[in-house]
Amino acid sequence: MTEQKLQICIFEGDGIGPEIMAPTLRVLSCALKTISAPKMRFEVHPAGAGHYAATGEALPQSSIDAARNADAILLSAMGLPSVRKPDGTEITPQIELRFALGLFAGVRPVRVFPGQPTPLVDPRASEIDFILVRESTEGLFAHMNEGIVCHENATETLRITRATSEKLFDFTFQMAERRAARKGRKARVTCVDKANVFRAFWFFREIFEERAKAFPNVDTDAAYVDAMAMWMVQRPWEFDVMVTENMFGDILSDLGAGLLGSLGLAPSADIGEDAAVFQPCHGSAPDIAGKGIANPMAMILSSAMMCEWLAVQKDLPILDLVARSVEDAVAKVVVEGVSVTGDLGGNASTEECADAVIAALMAD
Ligand code: ATP
Repeated sequence: MTEQKLQICIFEGDGIGPEIMAPTLRVLSCALKTISAPKMRFEVHPAGAGHYAATGEALPQSSIDAARNADAILLSAMGLPSVRKPDGTEITPQIELRFALGLFAGVRPVRVFPGQPTPLVDPRASEIDFILVRESTEGLFAHMNEGIVCHENATETLRITRATSEKLFDFTFQMAERRAARKGRKARVTCVDKANVFRAFWFFREIFEERAKAFPNVDTDAAYVDAMAMWMVQRPWEFDVMVTENMFGDILSDLGAGLLGSLGLAPSADIGEDAAVFQPCHGSAPDIAGKGIANPMAMILSSAMMCEWLAVQKDLPILDLVARSVEDAVAKVVVEGVSVTGDLGGNASTEECADAVIAALMAD
């Protein structure tokens, strides 16, 4: 056992955010201890709608600095519809953090655990296992606070750069290769765009094809985003890794979460060259906040993604074991269907669901 202690910056978020963060840290601590992995130090920092309402700042500089200095960042759901900036938009520190830390790759896994119920009736739905990589710093979000609105019209700008696209595609091909090696098969990456209509997407696709040449072990193809939206419902089990622009990725990742049956099961990571944020795909769910009934699994699975990333980043393969054990424990609880929360048809509270995950961890 090593003495190394990893520093994890924690943002507890708003609404159900703190309710799902606490059990996640319990599950993660238990998994680290069970496997004798390096310890983690969890340090909570302020950010979010609550902090904005109290101080006028959604993401203080001290929190950005803490995030920058940490080994990884765990961030819970943020924002509240009732807390808005003077221009009417919600505060979004999680997006600000992507820009501040250069987190260009949004990784959104969509995986149905064997035996897990899904909204699709086709039996092949149990084979759904793909990853959507969403560019996270440009596209239609590049100038997100600078949209021009006048009485007659409103204009937003979509921006795609060569430098970020090259980094995005290289990251995606490398991730696809690692994943294919784990699964013992060839990797396939699909570029999702609208290259038939917009020049910016033709530019995006050309860079994808250029960078693909450096990864001869990866099969590649491309699809238009509208067709992909249909195929993600008709035959989502056929895809391996997809890569797309920011706004398209924003929309398709919720469609992916829909295939899982609940947003409460959809984890995510926003990854840059030397920093990464791990957070659930869902928002702060104010409609169920304070009731203790939120599904903690998306947050728990996000912490497993953090372990998987740290395993590579810090050369600590034991953290891969931690990630797998947390995922397996969540899968067991989901498939048994007993200690699950209301969004998955159960009656368990957030804490009871987390207790069941811990029991599954200890049983292995
Ligand atoms: P945002 O735009 O911030 O992502 P949103 O408007 O998409 O937020 P969410 O807060 O994600 O909305 O909630 C959408 C619906 O899903 C709500 O009915 C909410 O209660 C439900 N939901 C979201 N997360 C969970 C969860 N972890 N457990 C149970 N239900 C959830």
